[in-house]
Amino acid sequence: MDNQKSYCLKCKKEVTPDIKKCECGNKSFVFGDIYFKDEKLFCVCGNTTFKTNMHLDYSDKAVTSYECNKCGKVVVTEHYRKFGGIE
Ligand SMILES: [Zn+2]
Ligand SMILES: [Zn+2]
Repeated sequence: MDNQKSYCLKCKKEVTPDIKKCECGNKSFVFGDIYFKDEKLFCVCGNTTFKTNMHLDYSDKAVTSYECNKCGKVVVTEHYRKFGGIE
């Protein structure tokens, strides 16, 4: 878990894990043993394909977890939304 990173899905900047809104205005984030290179998401193992594991809907956010197709590491995306679901 030490290598876990959090990134804004829009500007691809590294962010803090508890962030709810990036300075670029985006509210979608990705967490995991991952990195971005040339705007592409990589698993630490070098793989770029992930399969959907689980999807959870909360009142304030949608959470989807993915598994790396190669090493099985879990990657999680979180999409925050305003109350009422109106962006
Ligand atoms: Zn951003
Ligand atoms: Zn992997």
